[in-house]
Amino acid sequence: MTQIARIQESLKESDLSLDPYDLRHLGLTALTRRTRYNLQVIVRAAIYDKFREPLAVRDVPDPTPAKDGVVLSVEACGICRSDWHGWMGNDPDIKLPHIPGHELAGVIEAVGANVKGFQPGDRVTVPFVCGCGSCPQCLSGNQQVCDRQFQPGFSAWGGFAEHVAIEYAETNLVRLPDEIDFVTASSLGCRFITSFRAVKEQGRTALDEWVAVWGCGGVGLSAVMIAKGVGANVIAIDISDDKLELAKSIGADAIVNSKQTEHVVDAVKDLTRGGAHVSIEAFGHPQLVSDSISCLRKRGRHVQVGIMESGLHHTAIPMDLVIGRELEILGSHGMQAHRYPEMFEMIKDGRLEPAKLIGKTVSLEEAAIELTNMNSFSGVGVTVITEF
Ligand SMILES: [Zn+2]
Ligand SMILES: [Zn+2]
Repeated sequence: MTQIARIQESLKESDLSLDPYDLRHLGLTALTRRTRYNLQVIVRAAIYDKFREPLAVRDVPDPTPAKDGVVLSVEACGICRSDWHGWMGNDPDIKLPHIPGHELAGVIEAVGANVKGFQPGDRVTVPFVCGCGSCPQCLSGNQQVCDRQFQPGFSAWGGFAEHVAIEYAETNLVRLPDEIDFVTASSLGCRFITSFRAVKEQGRTALDEWVAVWGCGGVGLSAVMIAKGVGANVIAIDISDDKLELAKSIGADAIVNSKQTEHVVDAVKDLTRGGAHVSIEAFGHPQLVSDSISCLRKRGRHVQVGIMESGLHHTAIPMDLVIGRELEILGSHGMQAHRYPEMFEMIKDGRLEPAKLIGKTVSLEEAAIELTNMNSFSGVGVTVITEF
């Protein structure tokens, strides 16, 4: 049955007397969302048919949940540079046509037959890497590096839509405390959780230690806030005074403008009286990787969070320092769902204020344009879609 035929069929059973073609020409958006859900056929989404071409906002088939999955009514979805990379055609997981969006939060709309513990109406979010729940990584509790990852917005249609299907629901759904609104929740699911894991888990940052954060984009600013939240002293390094000021306002104890400082590594070592205990590379540049490792004190930990541009993945590192100072080199790849509660506690008691990193909220139509314009680094703060 075609979509239009299905709408006609649904309308026959409902009280609506409008001709479906008229409905389309009047714009289905004129109907309330609830009425349209009752048609059970289509939802609105921002979608692209070809890489590097404009997104269209149009109706797509309403997803149905897999047996172990759910369908969420998306209430908020962040726009991320990873979405832009995907739209540029840099991600082999993406099959066209495609709906981006991996930083999402919403309400459960439908539940698959095998899902226990969740029901329609529950407020939830998911990490950007969803684990399968049954591979060796997942069984060890490390769903963030699952062997069969499900990634909404990459390996499947994402959250730039009214509804999104999420697989492996029991492993990945995170129930939202009442205190955490949808916009804040959506802003956590990618950059913030990656930084949280980088600082807390991988970096093992302890009270009063020194943490250097290289690059003050979304990921770097999150790392500054989280390092301060766990009681560390923080140095933020960037080339933009605006971003450094923002870093200071959310907790950086010292800032270094690397454009205006001749020997940045020495500056960090002076400020920390001997080198940082933990250094987080939050930009993805060969020079910063080298500087981040070089600024560590003996037995320090370098955590790589910034994603290297294609062609630069196999960057050089000062291995002599790694050996001589017994340094650790670690990565951080998001955070698994079962580690969210600790982060929520820190948000609830005010040690973390992720809302401060949110820039503006936009509609689906605005998001469609915003995504294609992400090739500049000018924006400060996360943009979140709240009108679908
Ligand atoms: Zn992201
Ligand atoms: Zn797995």
